[in-house]
Amino acid sequence: MEICQTYKKKELPVIIMVHSKTVKAILFDLDGTLVRLPRIWEFFDELLIDTLNEFCIPLPQKDSRLAIWHSGGDFEHTLKGWGVSDYDEFIHRFDQLDLARRARMIESGEIHLFDDVDVLGNLHKEFKLGLVTNTPPDIALLELDAFGIKEHFDELVMLGTVEQHIAKPLPDGFLRCLNNLDVAPEQAVMVGDSSSDIIGGNRVGMITVLIQRPDQPALKNLELPPDLIITDLYELNSFSRASK
Ligand SMILES: [Mg+2]
Repeated sequence: MEICQTYKKKELPVIIMVHSKTVKAILFDLDGTLVRLPRIWEFFDELLIDTLNEFCIPLPQKDSRLAIWHSGGDFEHTLKGWGVSDYDEFIHRFDQLDLARRARMIESGEIHLFDDVDVLGNLHKEFKLGLVTNTPPDIALLELDAFGIKEHFDELVMLGTVEQHIAKPLPDGFLRCLNNLDVAPEQAVMVGDSSSDIIGGNRVGMITVLIQRPDQPALKNLELPPDLIITDLYELNSFSRASK
């Protein structure tokens, strides 16, 4: 387990000792954290291109297209700026293409669970577990059911493109999950692979853990950095051991 730069002054055992006494819940992101999509941002970009092409909208530059996945509340505004006149219809079609492609890729084994996800069973014996994902419900449930991990979660918050106006990193999804779990933000850990997980989790006052997957570029220049950086989910057992 590696301590984030900004936490150099603190020793890792101190962080765990301070927090784990009160940790009651661990919240997870889904895609990129528990489920491996090959070339995840290329995957979304290709879907976006396919949808834009179907609606005969000129393709924006790649940098702009990739930025939309981190735009939070600007998602709808950005799409309309590109020329999308019927936002709901566009999103509906995007989600249809996404669902169909993921079903094929799960079937072929191209989309699969990371090996360390089996730690959920152990963690669930001690902590409430929640899921906060920006993936739409039908797609998130497809993955959760296909991989048999739904049973590990006490609460599922699936925001998706229809609820993109309140998607991570905005606080609504985190707070909805925490409220339904009856856990205060400072009693909860957010585990995710992207800036929206870390920035959003920090903003609501959670302990944040960045999972750095091997084929993902390192996150840089986060406005609010993670409390911890881990390279596999088994390292979360440290919260469990320290709380005993
Ligand atoms: Mg993710």
